[in-house]
Amino acid sequence: MGGGIAGLSAAIYLGRAKRDTLIIDSGKSMARWEPDVQNYLGFPGGISGNELLRRARQQARRYRVKFMRDEIVSARASARHFQLRGHQSKYRCRRLLLATGIFHIPPDIPGVKPCLGHSMFFCKDCDGYRVQNRSIAVYGWTNETVEYALAILTYSRHVAIVTDGRQPRWSRRHKKWIHAHRIPIHRQTIRDVRHHCGQIQFLSFAGGSELKIEGLFTTRGDIYFSRLAEGLGAKVNRDGDIIVGLDMRTTVKGLYAAGCVTPANCQMIIAAGQGATAAQAINRDLFEEGLAKLSLKISKRSR
Ligand SMILES: Cc1cc2nc3c(=O)[nH]c(=O)nc-3n(C[C@H](O)[C@H](O)[C@H](O)COP(=O)(O)OP(=O)(O)OC[C@H]3O[C@@H](n4cnc5c(N)ncnc54)[C@H](O)[C@@H]3O)c2cc1C
Repeated sequence: MGGGIAGLSAAIYLGRAKRDTLIIDSGKSMARWEPDVQNYLGFPGGISGNELLRRARQQARRYRVKFMRDEIVSARASARHFQLRGHQSKYRCRRLLLATGIFHIPPDIPGVKPCLGHSMFFCKDCDGYRVQNRSIAVYGWTNETVEYALAILTYSRHVAIVTDGRQPRWSRRHKKWIHAHRIPIHRQTIRDVRHHCGQIQFLSFAGGSELKIEGLFTTRGDIYFSRLAEGLGAKVNRDGDIIVGLDMRTTVKGLYAAGCVTPANCQMIIAAGQGATAAQAINRDLFEEGLAKLSLKISKRSR
């Protein structure tokens, strides 16, 4: 379930292990939002997230992976199968991988959407490098906001925090760090954003003043698509990440999770690695089941 980076990587491995593999995907991979992925191995000139997904789907099809565009709304486990119900159809499988990702909550600023991935970012590890020496604002009011602003100092000394009218909730220790590093804080409510073709130019505050910036990072947190995992009895942590072992097994037999919906750092290459790891665990489990039941999958082709 989920045909983003983790799901596609898993499917390529499972297809090559000659397992009947279906990707059910509602088509909202976060990767679509990145016009220029610079940190994925093997693309020194960068690649757009959409193109990476397109190539991965093409690669999966080569190994007979099937695709279904659907959104799963309920999941049940019986003794031998998982039963899934989507808007379009019902499905049954012996092993289920949840690669459903997360949703980064955007800032509450009217008109900011076109800037997403161009000059408004969620992830310093993905985008810090590309905003070097630019004027950056970090949106938020928590300890994470402060730590983001401090981390961005590696890339640019022109960093400010904008709290959008919210009362800061950072600790005294974090407050001390802000002062020590002379990070300005703008507490006014943000009225809107000025941008040119997605490139942010100004934040306008309710009082009429403006802050000239070239990049905005936001720290409002994430929504984890782990409701179905919880319904199946899998352990989920306080944030909503699905708990997995090193081999991506959840706490429910036959159920695996990979990518941003797990506690790992939300990066494409990590999601791809976790997808591959999950697929290998699934393949191993099915192999052991085949051995136990004397029902190993044996090639029908003779030489
Ligand atoms: C603006 C932006 C820029 C980014 N830039 C970078 C970058 O430069 N480098 C980098 O490494 N990472 C970047 N990321 C993060 C990257 O996109 C994620 O790490 C990656 O997409 C995670 O893969 P995933 O498979 O876990 O989730 P996703 O790729 O988001 O895929 C999850 C899939 O599951 C589907 N799904 C969810 N629920 C259901 C359901 N109930 N039924 C069926 N399907 C479902 C969704 O539609 C989606 O297609 C960026 C993210 C954003 C938002």
